[in-house]
Amino acid sequence: MPYKNLEEYNTKITEDIKERYKRIIEDLGEDTNRDGLLKTPERAAKAMQFLTQGYAQDPVEILTSAMFKESYNEMVIVKDIELYSLCEHHILPFFGKVHIAYIPNGYIVGLSKLPRIVDVFARRLQVQERLTEQILDCINDTLTPQGVAVVIEASHMCMMMRGVQKQNSITTTSGFRGQFEKIETRNEFLKLIGK
Ligand SMILES: [Zn+2]
Repeated sequence: MPYKNLEEYNTKITEDIKERYKRIIEDLGEDTNRDGLLKTPERAAKAMQFLTQGYAQDPVEILTSAMFKESYNEMVIVKDIELYSLCEHHILPFFGKVHIAYIPNGYIVGLSKLPRIVDVFARRLQVQERLTEQILDCINDTLTPQGVAVVIEASHMCMMMRGVQKQNSITTTSGFRGQFEKIETRNEFLKLIGK
């Protein structure tokens, strides 16, 4: 078997969360002995651990593992990175796209690492604003580029399914450091991502 996708869960934590989910489902008025729900508390416990695995991952280590000395000093853009996260106020998903740009300062980073650090921060309980800052600061502090820019566009289930029930609204957040604080550079980036 050349490839094995391993998902490992801490047995005790899984058991703890499972018992709590069982209580929650019962409190909501359901019968946890019903066929379709028998394994639901355990599945939900594992799903939540999967969706919050970012707490156990180190984004700095991911970036430094693939930094290469390079003299290229034009804008590097990775756009339309898929985002799936959980809002910390309601523990409901928010999802959308992340666009990242940086201007190297002697070092470039393996392009696949940018989506990976998005996941590390997204797989925690989040607010979109902090997520934007964390991605920005992580790249800025680790890669020390001439500039970095992050734009996130996301739909929040807590807005779509409950509360104001605004189903087509998209929340945009952005952050800019270094060269991107200059209007021309920022505009070039925004144009290149189609904004
Ligand atoms: Zn929310």
